[in-house]
Amino acid sequence: MSSAINPWGLESLAGFPFPVSVSPGGAARGRQVAERAARTVEWLGRHVSMPETPPLFVVGPDDWDKVASIPLYGMPHVSSERVVVGQQPAPFWDAVTDAFTPLVGPQGLERLHAVYGDPLDLGGFADLLVSHELSHLAHGVDDGPEGPVTFWLRELAANLGLQGYVSEVEPAEAARLETIFDITWAAAPHSHWPVTDLARMADSLEGDGSNYVWFEFGLQVLAKRLWQTAGAAAFRNVVSALLGPAVDFGQVVDLLENLDPDVARAVRDWPHFPPGIRPASR
Ligand SMILES: [Zn+2]
Repeated sequence: MSSAINPWGLESLAGFPFPVSVSPGGAARGRQVAERAARTVEWLGRHVSMPETPPLFVVGPDDWDKVASIPLYGMPHVSSERVVVGQQPAPFWDAVTDAFTPLVGPQGLERLHAVYGDPLDLGGFADLLVSHELSHLAHGVDDGPEGPVTFWLRELAANLGLQGYVSEVEPAEAARLETIFDITWAAAPHSHWPVTDLARMADSLEGDGSNYVWFEFGLQVLAKRLWQTAGAAAFRNVVSALLGPAVDFGQVVDLLENLDPDVARAVRDWPHFPPGIRPASR
């Protein structure tokens, strides 16, 4: 494998079906992320129509601002021009851990430690999120209204891609993916969060990011359930709803009703999920 310094002052890694750039010294880690990205793209292409994969950047804090379009180091994101992922564990995840651990109770904490170690390290979970970002490409990332329904429906689509990919391609990672959202969603009192209305998910990006992660975790609980009950059809249907004319809340509820009535009810009653969906609590 050759590597060369490119115009960003980053190393280019050869051997992948899309361009890969990493911070100097980050080739081993970059290769791991790129391999998972390549497997994800291959998997996505079997289920939905995918655009060409944009270049992947796996960069450290010193290079983040050169290529990232959001300031928070380590928050993975995607556009039609690039996928950007942090190279080292992001301090952002420590803030998330600090926000959630006081809420989950002693048994919840025990289960978290069993999967993520002690002290808790969410790095292995965060590493899976490149598959979420790549899944966003299926519904188009640069255009379309970011309305109150579209915003969370896009996140549900990406979480379905992540859930499906891990379930089918990397099932050994399922516990690392699922434990954090199962435990925190079941245990944390929803009244803790400043923003809880699904239509206002975009507003939850204010603050340290933990309120936004709470929304993502709730949607991931629903994605896991949808994957169990409807499989790839759930992913395809949500993606195609996002590709068509703008959908309103009632249309989305109807779509979900056809896939899994409990998920439709969870969305209507958000954040109060029906007993059938509520993950095992503390
Ligand atoms: Zn997303």
